[in-house]
Amino acid sequence: NFERVAARFPLRDALIEAAVVPGDEARRWSYEKLNDDVDRLARALLAMGVAKGDRVGIWSPNCAEWTILQYATAKVGAILVNVNPAYRSHELEFVVRQNGMRMLVAAPSDKNSDYVAMAREALTSCPELRELVFLPDLGLDMLNAGEPQTDAELTYAELLKRADDVVPSALKARMAELDPHDPINLQYTSGTTGFPKGATLTHHNILNNGNQIGRLLGYTERDRVVLPVPFYHCFGMVIGNLNAMSFGAATIIPGRGFTPAAALEAVQDFGGTSLYGVPTMFIAELALPDFASYDLSTLRTGVMAGSLCPIEVMERVIAEMNMRDVAICYGMTETSPVSTMTLAADTLEQRTTTVGRTMPRLESKIVDPGTGETLERGGIGELCTRGYAVMAGYWGQPEKTAEAIDDDGWMHTGDLARMDPDGFIIIEGRMKDMVIRGGENIYPREIEEFLYRHPAIQDVQVVGVPDPKYGEELMACIILKPGAALDLEGVQEFCRGKLAHYKIPRYVDIRESFPMTVSGKVRKIDMREEAIARLG
Ligand code: ATP
Ligand code: MG
Repeated sequence: NFERVAARFPLRDALIEAAVVPGDEARRWSYEKLNDDVDRLARALLAMGVAKGDRVGIWSPNCAEWTILQYATAKVGAILVNVNPAYRSHELEFVVRQNGMRMLVAAPSDKNSDYVAMAREALTSCPELRELVFLPDLGLDMLNAGEPQTDAELTYAELLKRADDVVPSALKARMAELDPHDPINLQYTSGTTGFPKGATLTHHNILNNGNQIGRLLGYTERDRVVLPVPFYHCFGMVIGNLNAMSFGAATIIPGRGFTPAAALEAVQDFGGTSLYGVPTMFIAELALPDFASYDLSTLRTGVMAGSLCPIEVMERVIAEMNMRDVAICYGMTETSPVSTMTLAADTLEQRTTTVGRTMPRLESKIVDPGTGETLERGGIGELCTRGYAVMAGYWGQPEKTAEAIDDDGWMHTGDLARMDPDGFIIIEGRMKDMVIRGGENIYPREIEEFLYRHPAIQDVQVVGVPDPKYGEELMACIILKPGAALDLEGVQEFCRGKLAHYKIPRYVDIRESFPMTVSGKVRKIDMREEAIARLG
């Protein structure tokens, strides 16, 4: 697929990485050059003896080499394992061991400048791990990296040199052995609700999903897609890379981690037509003091996904960022990831209050979590998804797979939702986040949406905390706008007369920030624990 696109648009921009060190040139790849670099790396992997189905990990923030490895592993039939760049040694070893990874490609991130030491530790303690490859360091402190110490360590440049030992026809022969239903990618879930699980995805799963999303966004080779979302997550690698590349569009990497200014600069400098992000990223971009000074006139569309977006934010994204066709996508790592999305033709109301309709060739249903019966339209229950995008299973965890995917192939998402008469799906929150106060089911999302309208509130999350009388009580955790003030009384006053008494928060906690996953989601579990600890 990638080769076909590369042959069709050889000279168009495929990949641009903004300068990591200010003042440097951006790095650029045409489709032709990218395909050559991918082939070279693929041949190097063959030279190292990487077999079909071997797990090759990448533990790196976004960079061009990440993308090149993504396609090179696909060409040799290896399973790319996305390792969260924020992981430290304990988590790294867990992932390496969990899937019996044989090669790890590592690069520093702002959170792990001691990555070389941690990778070496994993090499010593995990017997199946045979090779470490260190990516070129661009701008970050390399002093502690040192020279490769053993035969098991290579720099990326040394790895590429091995390609000379393998003729191109050997790569062609390997590619001929591959089947679309072979696993190609092991992605660990965000870990929002517990320890991450490894979703095993096939070529068929993710290529088709990426292609469908791009089609519905109306991509052509003229699009330039700005990706501040992490590649280690399906949002970056499937919704981002695969959907853009399916249509010959360019992908643009604004930086190694997310900063709101770098994302908007990339749109401005490279003529971005499409910008991706989770809602918190868009909130941060809109909150930049010099937001109005960026030229975002080339933007047309984008994807907002990962968690629910306050309506006010969505309206500003459309009006002030020029993203008139922006799509809301819903999905999960286990469904490759997108299963529902809004279309530009949907009404503003549908595009701000729902996650759209089910994507072509997938099915959705809402079931009663107790009985498993399909509910009438409008009833709130667990959303289930079925079709080509459902993962092959959780790596090495058949019991967990059986809990998540039933005998009829339905993936149970763990999300509460309802479906309107036209098939639009409204997410009500996660089953695990639902608060039960004195027997009343409360969906924190509803209260968050309401509080968000308060002029002093920049961001808000509502959690349940234990209460001896009611079982649970609500706490609103609030990040204030700069210079604003608000207390419990103010919050309750704002709600009185507008929300039922049991939905009015009993506690307010003013915060500087929320605990986040690297994919940009609020870790409600941690926040709830912190809230309980603060209450004493
Ligand atoms: P874990 O499964 O490890 O607890 P996670 O579920 O956050 O973490 P992901 O697979 O990255 O891991 O995220 C999928 C979840 O994100 C969905 O189940 C849903 O709860 C939420 N989500 C995704 N898109 C949207 C959206 N557009 N609106 C609301 N929620 C969304
Ligand atoms: Mg999940």
